[in-house]
Amino acid sequence: MGSETNERVLMGPGPSDVHPNVLRAMAKPLLGHLDPAFLTVMNETMSLLRQVYQTKNELTLAMSGTGSAGMETVFVNLVEPGDKVVICVNGLFGQRMVDVASRCGATVIEVEAPWGEVIDIDKVKATLQLHTDVSLVAVVHAETSTGVLQPLEQLSEIVHDYGALFVCDMVTSLGGVPTLIDERKIDAAYSGTQKCLSAPPGLAPVTFSEQAVQKMARRKSKVQSWYLDLSMIQNYWGDERSYHHTAPITMVYALHESLRLIIEEGVESVFWRHRMFGEALHNGLEEMGLQLLVHKDHRLPQLTSVRIPEGVDDANVRKQLLTKYGIEIGGGLGELKGKVWRIGLMGFNAKQRNVTLFLAALQEVLVAEGWKGKS
Ligand SMILES: *Cc1c(COP(=O)(O)O)cnc(C)c1O
Repeated sequence: MGSETNERVLMGPGPSDVHPNVLRAMAKPLLGHLDPAFLTVMNETMSLLRQVYQTKNELTLAMSGTGSAGMETVFVNLVEPGDKVVICVNGLFGQRMVDVASRCGATVIEVEAPWGEVIDIDKVKATLQLHTDVSLVAVVHAETSTGVLQPLEQLSEIVHDYGALFVCDMVTSLGGVPTLIDERKIDAAYSGTQKCLSAPPGLAPVTFSEQAVQKMARRKSKVQSWYLDLSMIQNYWGDERSYHHTAPITMVYALHESLRLIIEEGVESVFWRHRMFGEALHNGLEEMGLQLLVHKDHRLPQLTSVRIPEGVDDANVRKQLLTKYGIEIGGGLGELKGKVWRIGLMGFNAKQRNVTLFLAALQEVLVAEGWKGKS
C-alpha cells in the first residue's frame, strides 16, 4: 500500500475517488454513537440529505451498508408477502430489484426494455391497467450498468393514477443529477455514498414520503429483516435516540462532509458540472470515432457506456489503462460483457483534467492495440 504504483483515478462505475476533505473528516477521533456531539452530526446529516435529495421528507436518513442495503431497506419495509409489485428492468440493477422484491415474498411483474434504452411508460401504463391492486412500481433512475437516465415525471403521474407507490433507485443519481423527490412525487428512494457523493462505500441514504410511511404503519407482518427494520432505525435517528446497532461513526463523518461540500458548491452548480464534463467526454469519444451505447437524449453525464471497437481486446485495454496510467474504468455487465466500457465522472471526479487524461490515455492504448481510428 501507499506506493506510487497504487495511485489511481477511479473512473469506473463506483467506487469513485473520495474528496480529500472527506478523507480528512474520516481521520477525526471517534465519538460514542450516543454522544450528544455525535447526535448533532446525525441531525445535520439528515438535514443536508434532505437538501441534496431535494425533499422535505421527515424520514430521510442513512442506513448502514452500501447502496444495495438501501435497495433492500426500501423493499423489506414497503413490501409484505403477497404484495403485487411492478419492477422496470432495463439493466442489472433492475434485475437486482426483482431478486430483492421476490425474496420479500412479493409477486413481481416485470416491465422490460432493452439494455441501453429507457423504459417505455406506455408499457407501464398497460401493465397497471391489466393488473389491479399493484402496491408499488420501481424503476432505476440512473442505470449504472448501461448509462441510461430514466425520465421520471410522467411515470410518476401514471403510477399515482393507479394508486401505487413510486420507488426509485437513485444510487448513482444522488449528487450527480437532480433527484427532485418532492416535485416528482417519489415515495421512496435509496442511494449510496460511493458514487456521486465522493465518499467511500458504506452508507445508504434513503428517503420516504408520508404515503410510504403510512404504508409501513399499516403493515400486518413484521419486517423480515431485523437490521433494516425502519421502525427501529427511526428510533435511533429520531428523537428517542435508543440503541439499535452501533452507527458506523466514521462513515457518518464522511457523508456529513461530502454533503456539506455539495451544498457549499450549490446543488445546481454540481449538476451543471456533471452535465458539462459528461458532455465533454461524450463529444471527445465520438470525435475519436467511437460509438456510445445510449441515445443522446437519455445519456447519464456521470456514467458513459462506449462500445468496444471491433478487434480490440477488452481486458487488455483496461489493464493498460490501469497499469500505465492508473485509470480504472469498468467493463460491461451481463449481456453487455465484452461489448462496452463504462466510464464514470462522478462527484469530485467530474472535472476537465479527468476527461482530458482519459481521452488521451485511451487514444494511446487503442493505437497500441492496432486500432485504426475513424474509418
Ligand atoms: C452501485 C449501484 C447499486 C449497488 O450499490 P452497492 O454500493 O454496490 O451496494 C445499486 N443500484 C445502482 C443503480 C448502482 O449504481
